[in-house]
Amino acid sequence: MLTDPRHCAECGDPFADDVDPRRLTCSTRCRVRRHRRREREELARLRAQLAAMTAEEARP
Ligand SMILES: [Zn+2]
Repeated sequence: MLTDPRHCAECGDPFADDVDPRRLTCSTRCRVRRHRRREREELARLRAQLAAMTAEEARP
């Protein structure tokens, strides 16, 4: 997914012209939502890694 710096990374709404172009999200709500989503993704990645390691150990 391409991240357009002029659009919110969470909801995709375009920023107003006077908004700092380095901003990722349009609002605090979107910033928090994005953070939570990334946390969930990271947790899922770690769980998959752990499952793969466990499967490796169970091998004869
Ligand atoms: Zn947004």
